[in-house]
Amino acid sequence: MASSYTVLCAFHFLQSTWQWLWNSSSGIAGKDRLLFMSMLKELLFADSFEKLLAAKQRIDSNVKVQQNVKFRNRLQSYWERREEWCVNLRKDFITRGNNTNNYSEAAIRITKDIVFDRLKAYNSIQMFQFVTTTMDLYCKQRLLSLANNRLDNFVALRFTISGSTADTVSSHSIQATDSDDVFHVQSRTDNQQTWRVDLTVGTCTCPRGRNGQPRGHQLAASLKYKRHSLNKIPTSSVCAANCMPK
Ligand SMILES: [Zn+2]
Repeated sequence: MASSYTVLCAFHFLQSTWQWLWNSSSGIAGKDRLLFMSMLKELLFADSFEKLLAAKQRIDSNVKVQQNVKFRNRLQSYWERREEWCVNLRKDFITRGNNTNNYSEAAIRITKDIVFDRLKAYNSIQMFQFVTTTMDLYCKQRLLSLANNRLDNFVALRFTISGSTADTVSSHSIQATDSDDVFHVQSRTDNQQTWRVDLTVGTCTCPRGRNGQPRGHQLAASLKYKRHSLNKIPTSSVCAANCMPK
């Protein structure tokens, strides 16, 4: 049975925390605001479960936290919902490395600014017209841009070889397996550790790639064995196509 989870945007989580810290009703002294903010940031971005628990213990034993009932209560209510906002606790969700709701905000901005051309649709027929004509045209233009290798900065940096970390992965560390799209890549920092890259779903078992983030291991395997990857945009540049991992 399919299930879904609600996760909070890291940016809005911090924004609402900052607003609460500055609200006079929270009663937090000006000199303590930065300290409490940095504590929550530490919990939010802890990169392992052990570090998360250690940070929580440190915060609980902090004298200023113990003296401040309102912050302690807020921290407690946050902690009870930690699966929703601690980045480390959502590392197995296929978020493709996104911990904010930037994609949905960008989609709304494109719909309002480009598809609707900042005009208000007064009835459902007008709305239908915008969606079926302008939206269609917009999508065609975006696909044509990709086909012609005219990529915006965001796409170029994340989904192409030239802007990726693929060149930091040695081709000798990548081994094929019985499956066409699955590879084993030796860790750069620990010879005993091997990551499993699956190009079909665009994931890797390394800490950064497990949520589907486009990372060097996937791109390097895709380059070395000339396989399509869900996270890589095929290039029409001869230079990039011939650029093999060292
Ligand atoms: Zn990886």
